[in-house]
Amino acid sequence: MPSYTPPLRDMQFVLHEVLNVVDELKMLPPYADIDADTINAVLEEGGKFCAEVIAPINLSGDKEGCQLDKTTHEVTTPKGFKEAYQTYIDGGWAALACDPAYGGQGLPLLVNQCFYEMLNSANQAWTMYPGLSHGAYECLHAHGTDEQKKLYLPKLTNGQWTGTMCLTEPHCGTDLGLLRTKAEPQADGTYKITGQKIFISAGEHQLAENIVHLVLARLPDAPAGSKGISLFIVPKFNVNADGSLGERNGIFCSGLEHKMGIHANSTCQMTLDGAIGTMVGQPNKGLAAMFVMMNTARLGVGNQSLGLTEVAYQNAVAYAKDRLQMRSLSGPKAPDKPADPIIVHPDVRKMLLTARAYAEGARALQAYTVLQADKSISSDDEDERKEAEAELALLTPIIKAFITDNGWIATSHCMQVYGGHGFIHEWGMEQFVRDARINMIYEGTNTIQSLDLLGRKVLGNNGATLKKFGKKIAAFIEEEGTNEAMQEFINPLADLGDKVNKLTQELGMKAFGNPDEVGAAAVDYLRVVGHMTFAYFFARMAKVALEKEGSGDPFYRAKLATARFYFAKLLPETASLIRTARAGLKPLMEMDEALF
Ligand SMILES: Cc1cc2nc3c(=O)[nH]c(=O)nc-3n(C[C@H](O)[C@H](O)[C@H](O)COP(=O)(O)OP(=O)(O)OC[C@H]3O[C@@H](n4cnc5c(N)ncnc54)[C@H](O)[C@@H]3O)c2cc1C
Repeated sequence: MPSYTPPLRDMQFVLHEVLNVVDELKMLPPYADIDADTINAVLEEGGKFCAEVIAPINLSGDKEGCQLDKTTHEVTTPKGFKEAYQTYIDGGWAALACDPAYGGQGLPLLVNQCFYEMLNSANQAWTMYPGLSHGAYECLHAHGTDEQKKLYLPKLTNGQWTGTMCLTEPHCGTDLGLLRTKAEPQADGTYKITGQKIFISAGEHQLAENIVHLVLARLPDAPAGSKGISLFIVPKFNVNADGSLGERNGIFCSGLEHKMGIHANSTCQMTLDGAIGTMVGQPNKGLAAMFVMMNTARLGVGNQSLGLTEVAYQNAVAYAKDRLQMRSLSGPKAPDKPADPIIVHPDVRKMLLTARAYAEGARALQAYTVLQADKSISSDDEDERKEAEAELALLTPIIKAFITDNGWIATSHCMQVYGGHGFIHEWGMEQFVRDARINMIYEGTNTIQSLDLLGRKVLGNNGATLKKFGKKIAAFIEEEGTNEAMQEFINPLADLGDKVNKLTQELGMKAFGNPDEVGAAAVDYLRVVGHMTFAYFFARMAKVALEKEGSGDPFYRAKLATARFYFAKLLPETASLIRTARAGLKPLMEMDEALF
């Protein structure tokens, strides 16, 4: 069975030594009193919970999966899941980053994000039950009426109830404008909702007393397409005015998907048969309201792959130090043993370092981005709020797609380190690979994230937000311009920044001629910009490591070695990506459809 050690020192390095988050958070009124000790203590306790309670039920949960009782429509999660969920509630973990007005602990989203990285390492499938609840909480917090907030937020905050997002239907996933679920207004102000949703994560389970489904549906007179979608709260059990549970509502699980990974998370076909719902926000403006939940979920999905990358790396390193096969090409490194440990072989190191670099780059990018989320909500300066919001919007598709693509590569490499044993269930490595694969698909496929980045977030405002972020990178390059030791990081970063500017302009011009050019280049483009953000954060991490290397703490030597590996072995991928992005539309469209 795989093991997991919470990477607390790595988190503290990013939070306190690289990003100085306490200084930044203290500027936000709700966090004026925050300090590093509080953050560290919460993460230490959270790490224990993840390693001791959640990780031990990951492998068994994958094997057992969820069971649907077709007569009652109830779903049972694997052994230990319910008890673990109760421990999670009792520990107050659900309330970490929730509003004190509803019983929350009022900590920054950033702390929750770090806690969730550890939960995801421990058990992605289990983590999706409470994970979706937080998105539902945020959506209702932003768009619910006072009445809805009063009824639903306290119980989502304390974890007594969980939440879901019900968007996808059999005939539509990416293109939600096609959805057909109907909502008919009733005389009492509620709606009767009828339709079929599929692939609904955590759609049914026995972990919580009630499940709060956030459902997209159409009013009878709604315009066609995405401008005719409204959002509704549809609870599993209706909720009485005093907050107590009423009758079972007409929404139930009619089937469970059998799938490649995350077996222990229930992926449900949900039937709505005249289910009672109340509208959230304005009629026909449901998609915009739902985006609060979707954006939270996109950051959450990036975090899932960060968690899997970290845990796969930890186990692959332990295995590579232990497994003896062949001698090093340059002569025995463990002459007293029958063979050398495989960690002496360059390519095994390449696989391990790739996973390590992808985890460290992702952790820095995630922390920086979620700090922008905290600023966008909690700053008392409107300009700062707007700037943070724009940066958050820019970086969200990068987090979702770049980190999950990397997570797939990293978990696959870590499985490879195990040789044939990696393919065997009991080692746990093949589960990490299977679990990582869905992260590239749901919450908007990675192709859709790329279109969002290049089409909307970059070209959509003539590159203004990207330029602003680029200015931060340029300021750092300028600051370090005369620092000899930093040149190995600064020069390639500056070079890539120039290339991204040129590529963006070139693609913008091509898109004027033919919008399909965006579709032809977007995936490569996102990966190039993803690397640019990683290179920036690796350079910042290297700066701190160089300053502290003299302390003799080997931690900083390891940080420098990882940064050097990243710049030498991973970043150069951008050269071929820029070429393929430039190769444009023609090679993709030349072939007639009939010839496929
Ligand atoms: C395990 C699991 C859990 C899920 N959980 C949830 C959940 O909790 N709630 C929920 O509502 N949904 C959920 N989903 C659904 C998921 O979000 C969708 O599957 C996903 O958004 C893709 O939609 P689709 O499957 O309909 O694929 P399609 O939209 O049919 O896409 C098929 C392919 O076409 C590509 N494509 C589509 N349009 C374009 C375009 N314009 N340009 C380029 N390429 C394009 C896509 O990238 C994809 O590769 C889940 C799915 C799974 C498998």
